[in-house]
Amino acid sequence: MPTVLPLPALLEEIRACRACADALPLGPRPVLQASATARLLIVGQAPGAKVHASGIPWDDASGERLREWLGIDSETFYDVARVAIVPMGFCYPGRGSGGDNPPRPECAPLWHEKLIDQLKGVGLTLLVGQYAQRHFLGGRRKPSLTETVAAWREYAPDYVPLPHPSPRNQPWLKRHPWFEHDVLPALQERVGALLAPAKHTAREAQSANKDSTMTKPAIDIQRVYGPLPEGGRHCFLVDRLWPRGLRKEALANVAWLKNVAPSTGLRQWFHKDPAQWAEFRKRYLAELDANPDAWQPLAEAAAEGHITLLYGSHDTERNHAIVLREYLEKQSKRK
Ligand code: SF4
Repeated sequence: MPTVLPLPALLEEIRACRACADALPLGPRPVLQASATARLLIVGQAPGAKVHASGIPWDDASGERLREWLGIDSETFYDVARVAIVPMGFCYPGRGSGGDNPPRPECAPLWHEKLIDQLKGVGLTLLVGQYAQRHFLGGRRKPSLTETVAAWREYAPDYVPLPHPSPRNQPWLKRHPWFEHDVLPALQERVGALLAPAKHTAREAQSANKDSTMTKPAIDIQRVYGPLPEGGRHCFLVDRLWPRGLRKEALANVAWLKNVAPSTGLRQWFHKDPAQWAEFRKRYLAELDANPDAWQPLAEAAAEGHITLLYGSHDTERNHAIVLREYLEKQSKRK
């Protein structure tokens, strides 16, 4: 049986590592932080040149944005007793024509298992970028990073996949406003509960975690054309029109709540110009506000247990079911 090094000795060994020194333009300088008590584990890509120079993880514009996303300050972020930061490659890998090189492939196989096995207190792992997602999610990953991030509820409660917070990713954030509307509030709630100071009692932390949408996803959405969740009895079709090509028997156990869908005028307007997503969202939320009878059965079913909203749209990132779920989640928090 291989000897398990105590964590301080393991960290010392990592800091002395030169396994891929010949491939590192600025030489080895592993940048990470870890302790056995850490509750949150952040797995990013690899240090950039600025982080290599300072030796402080996420000490750059990407780190600032990541802290904003998590809703925590620098003091909390760098509290090694609460937050572990373990990138896919510990040393700066240099630059290629398209930006920083990928993390060195030697690093994670050499160190990750030994190190992460010792982080027994971790309750949530953030997978920042495609390398971390590939390594930790394997076959559960979706075909693209965007689809993986959009499916964040599937990976709860252990993981949250995130895009890279680099300022260069601003166009991605603009194209996918659901990330800020849906993912970040739930992420901040979960991280807040997880990193609550010790005076927060275990019972309170447990209760906050229980209510978090990242711990217990109560409302899923999916295209109606995929395989339905087993039993189908908690599924609701939320389109105004019956899905083209589907026979009634295929949705025999599904309740059809057509009146909760956007009005015909709004649906047709958005169909003509999907770039109006933000405006569509605003108008649909106003319709929901004005029509509580339509969504009340969904709110009641979601209070009882897990439900799935089914929709027909090809667009899995901008459709009314996303807005409806957001609305229902907000309603449940108001209670
Ligand atoms: S990148 Fe990883 S494997 Fe390579 S020298 Fe640094 S710590 Fe060692």
